[in-house]
Amino acid sequence: MPKSSQLLKEILDCGRKTLLETEAKTLCMEYDIPVTRFKLVKDEENAAKQAEALGFPVVLKIVSPDIVHKSDVGGVIVGVKSLNEVKKSYREIMNNIMKHKPEAKIVGVLVQEMAPAGTEVIVGSIKDPQFGPAIMFGLGGVFVEVLKDVTFRIAPITEDEAAEMISEVKAYPLLKGYRNSPPADLKAITKILVNTSRLVTEHPEIKELDLNPIMVYEKGAKAVDARIILE
Ligand code: ADP
Ligand code: MG
Repeated sequence: MPKSSQLLKEILDCGRKTLLETEAKTLCMEYDIPVTRFKLVKDEENAAKQAEALGFPVVLKIVSPDIVHKSDVGGVIVGVKSLNEVKKSYREIMNNIMKHKPEAKIVGVLVQEMAPAGTEVIVGSIKDPQFGPAIMFGLGGVFVEVLKDVTFRIAPITEDEAAEMISEVKAYPLLKGYRNSPPADLKAITKILVNTSRLVTEHPEIKELDLNPIMVYEKGAKAVDARIILE
């Protein structure tokens, strides 16, 4: 059995439907979808140790099967720049969870490399009851949330279809580059779209997938958050 199927089976076997960010990103890595490097820790000493190994700045995030939207409960701290700040942020996250979601079961804290700012895009997948998994693409923030500037294709998609999706959102000119802002790596986004399509096609047990946001650069792209929900 492929490693990804084994992982999903283990999660279903223990009665869970929502993957932890660590699990979702592990699955992404299996499919060659670039994600920020991460380490799961369970105390502030190890958080500091891993932050040093990853290199500053880092991001700290709560890992809990009961918390889907981490920043809503104060579960994400970005731009952590020193060992002392890591320890302080670790405690701050724990306090925030105690305050906003005291009943949540806590697995640990994720220490991850902080991705530099880039153009933020979103890749997602939802299941159509009739046609199966569909792939979604759009630019992050107001483009998706306010303008609903997104596009869909039924999976599996080819590289040409992926490129078509990218070029048909209204915000496409922003990706192509304008004035002083450089063009984004469209090839890297295309690859992520095709690999995401492969991931959900080969795993029909996935109900929803959300890479939000993906930072896109002149060269390369990286998902900083990954959410996967099973049937
Ligand atoms: P959630 O969506 O569950 O609230 P995210 O993991 O998406 O949590 O984190 C919230 C925000 O923090 C992201 O939208 C992004 O702007 C920022 N962020 C999270 N992880 C990173 C990272 N590794 N590098 C840079 N920015 C990050
Ligand atoms: Mg997110």
